[in-house]
Amino acid sequence: MAKVAFIGLGVMGYPMAGHLRVKGGHEVTVYNRTAAKAQAWAAQFGGRAAATPRAAAEGQDMVFACVGNDDDLRQVTIGADGAFAGMAKGAIFVDHTTASADVARELHGAASAAGFGFIDAPVSGGQAGAENGVLTVMCGGDAPVYEKAEPVIAAFARACRLMGPSGAGQLTKMVNQICIGGLVQALSEGVHFAQKAGLDVEAVIEVISKGAAQSWQMENRHRTMNEGKFDFGFAVDWMRKDLSICLEEARRNGAQLPVTALVDQFYAEVQKLGGGRWDTSSLLARLK
Ligand code: NAP
Repeated sequence: MAKVAFIGLGVMGYPMAGHLRVKGGHEVTVYNRTAAKAQAWAAQFGGRAAATPRAAAEGQDMVFACVGNDDDLRQVTIGADGAFAGMAKGAIFVDHTTASADVARELHGAASAAGFGFIDAPVSGGQAGAENGVLTVMCGGDAPVYEKAEPVIAAFARACRLMGPSGAGQLTKMVNQICIGGLVQALSEGVHFAQKAGLDVEAVIEVISKGAAQSWQMENRHRTMNEGKFDFGFAVDWMRKDLSICLEEARRNGAQLPVTALVDQFYAEVQKLGGGRWDTSSLLARLK
């Protein structure tokens, strides 16, 4: 059993922190910007709510975070009353935010200089994965630090792997998002075409999902897409944040991402339709 803190009790962080308490059996302190959520978590799971990230981090073996973007992450780590000021020497900070590889390296550098570890550890598996404690966690950082962190992360992970040095977790998550973008557009076009052709979309998917066209998106989203419902998971606003991180990194490393860039613009159109909070399968909505 470890002493841990969790910063950022959103859709992902709230259940992840819960698994640390219930499944991991750890002593958990939480911090959330909107304090009421931290109070509710503490009442539900039996932990302590701290007033600042710094206070949450003090005296902990490990501190987790899952906030929005690079700026949010900087704010809760190196900002005023940020967690880094409270970290004990030898402790470990694990960041589950989907952020840039740059900010991961920057914070890893700051952590190393102050004598504690930093692992970038973005996740895949969505809200359901967080609630069921079966996330995939892609990590970057130093091997000895990772080896200590992995058994604690296991409370909410089905798979967890060190991908390389600091930033490698975020780079791996970028690959994940690049693969999803083009695939969801192709699935949207397939469903759209089937509808226009007057086919029974359910029957079409039942047949083709047993063959080479099969995908997680197809299995889990085709029914709601066919019904024009787009309220089932990862939001377009978040996806655009992630794709902009991918495109920025590609500008630097020279990778060519023509379909990803196009799909990013399609998502911008979905936002203009008022779909910023719709799930990512709403690429279908702009075809109509
Ligand atoms: P969310 O529900 O919007 O929660 C965001 C959390 O971060 C909230 O607790 C929020 O506090 C806190 N926060 C944001 N900015 C902050 C700041 N400047 N200072 C302090 N706290 C701040 O988001 P989420 O869905 O949990 O996603 C969190 C991260 O996981 C994102 O990077 C996202 O891309 C990634 N992710 C999400 C999913 C998914 O399916 N949702 C899947 C994989 C990865 P308040 O409560 O005060 O707003």
